Amino acid sequence: MVLFGSKPTKEKKLEKKGKFHELQLYRYKMARGEGVGDFTYRLPRLLQTEQRLREITQREATLTEEIKRGLESGENIEEMDRESQDLKSSYYAADCEWHLIYTRIVSEYLKRGLSQCRSYPQWYLHEILSKDCADRDGCCARDCGCCRTRDVQPNRQLGVGHCTLECGCCQETRGFAGCKLSDEAKESMKDICPLDRDTSYRYYQKIMKASIFGIADGNVASQLDLIEKPPAYEEKEFKPGR
Ligand SMILES: [Zn+2]
Ligand SMILES: [Zn+2]
Ligand SMILES: [Zn+2]
Repeated sequence: MVLFGSKPTKEKKLEKKGKFHELQLYRYKMARGEGVGDFTYRLPRLLQTEQRLREITQREATLTEEIKRGLESGENIEEMDRESQDLKSSYYAADCEWHLIYTRIVSEYLKRGLSQCRSYPQWYLHEILSKDCADRDGCCARDCGCCRTRDVQPNRQLGVGHCTLECGCCQETRGFAGCKLSDEAKESMKDICPLDRDTSYRYYQKIMKASIFGIADGNVASQLDLIEKPPAYEEKEFKPGR
């Protein structure tokens, strides 16, 4: 685990006792007092940027398959190649934005909480986030298992997570695979579950707490117990690098 700042005694004690839920809850409470701007501005932007990174990563995965099929059938893949290049630069821009926001986080409690939460490579399989995916009719609502087995490249680690509008499997299920969604269609679909602190505070808070601290209201289990553990699950150091 990467640690930021020197940990106060209370954190050390909770960590030593293995009370990870209390530890993360404590960090959340302390961070709220310490980093008002973090919670008002930076975290909403960070989470929205992660959503964008997931959309790009999932679109790239679908496009890679389309290019493969195009090459096999001798189709002209020029346009697909161009889209692939555009996606690479879009990912890069969003990745830079994520790091810029991250470096501006003021609260050390928040940084330690995030670091601990993300030290589990499959932090996004937290039951709150998997249920949210199922509620949005993502792959967690079906038996396909895409979210558990999504193959994410090492340079796309910030793009891990549940289904977005660009999930190829979801598009196929909904019957619009291969169709390019208009920006209007995308916006209207996003409006159903907006990650927006101002317009959907309760929903936003639920997703934020699970994504950043691994905590859930009314549940005192530690994050590890709330993550669906795939086989060969192991804890890994969180390095917000590229
Ligand atoms: Zn699926
Ligand atoms: Zn999906
Ligand atoms: Zn999912």
